[in-house]
Amino acid sequence: MISLAQPHIKDDFTAMMHWKRLYEYEHEARLLLEAEKIVLDVMPEKCSCGSTLCLNGYEESSVMDYIQGRTVVKIFYRRKGKCAACGKRYVSPLGEAAPSAFYTNKLLAHAAVEHYILGHSMGEVSAKLNASESALFNAFHLYAEQLTPFIDELIVHYRQSQIKHADETGWKCDGVNGYAWLFTNSSVAVHCFAHTRSQSVVDKIFGDKKLPGVLCVDSYAGYNHVKCKVQYCYAHLKRTVDDLKKEFQYDAEVLGFVNVLSPLLGQAMGLRGKKLDTAGFLAEAHAIKERILQAVNAEANHPGIQKIQNIFRENELKLFHWAESPDVPADNNFAERDLRKTVIARKISYGSQSERGRKTRSVLMSILHTAQKNGRDPATAFEKILRELQSGNRSGLLNLLL
Ligand SMILES: [Zn+2]
Repeated sequence: MISLAQPHIKDDFTAMMHWKRLYEYEHEARLLLEAEKIVLDVMPEKCSCGSTLCLNGYEESSVMDYIQGRTVVKIFYRRKGKCAACGKRYVSPLGEAAPSAFYTNKLLAHAAVEHYILGHSMGEVSAKLNASESALFNAFHLYAEQLTPFIDELIVHYRQSQIKHADETGWKCDGVNGYAWLFTNSSVAVHCFAHTRSQSVVDKIFGDKKLPGVLCVDSYAGYNHVKCKVQYCYAHLKRTVDDLKKEFQYDAEVLGFVNVLSPLLGQAMGLRGKKLDTAGFLAEAHAIKERILQAVNAEANHPGIQKIQNIFRENELKLFHWAESPDVPADNNFAERDLRKTVIARKISYGSQSERGRKTRSVLMSILHTAQKNGRDPATAFEKILRELQSGNRSGLLNLLL
């Protein structure tokens, strides 16, 4: 029992520190008193050299776990053994945690979801889980590094899909402006937090080979040399068109143009939702496309109208893939919806604090959000991935996510 008797106090600060230490000590002592004690006896019958093992007692290790909404301490007594012939040492595997880890995989996975999916700050997460912020971050950094090659597998998977989306938003790293990119489809979400909005990120994701399918993006030049069909987002174009009307609300020519084009763009975006059969879809899509082309190819005097017409005239190859198949959306709403999660995280954490944090966030968000997209519980999926990493098995990781 720890005495809480008041000590001789020199000043308020010393007193505060004293009570804080006592509280922490008492708190930890209580966790230890309540700790579950688990004996692990699993031991191979023979050494890898073929000789018999001599068992020599137990090794004790305590690990913090997360069970039913609270942190608990587990004390493991792990069987130890030594080969009589070659001297090789054995100890029962923990299974739930890395050797000499403070936290179980379950606790780490839960913390990762709280931070990288739900957007809680690491300060909040560590307080809630009774875990050290720096120890959690160190574990995240370590596993993110090990999982980096695995992200390349996700990228390959993304490249080969028929419908791809990409979007980006501002993201500060170490106080310097940067970008949060998202490359996503129905089963993969590759997050990339980078210093730049430059070509290099796009190149890394799309490579230099011709790709199948269609890539949906906002009209942004960064994607222009991707070797894939590109569909510009009609939601963005519609906003540009509608803004023209706001700016020149008394100009009859502008009103005439916007009142024709804006509803057509809306109809194009809504056509998939009508669930027509393919023939019906293609007929209606063709009609809408023809009317859009009519509007943008008509003669106009107002420079604002001409500017919008030029966007359509100069990018005709990037504007009508939606009309060829009901599978291709005319907007990029799918990516924008997914990227909103990042926007929420930005509001809470004000970007990444370090270069390492930026990389770790890229890897872990990609893994957790991909698991979620495939209907998996992201914490359970991540816990399984950690277990595979610890057992040295890196070949089947994709199957744990997709
Ligand atoms: Zn041996």
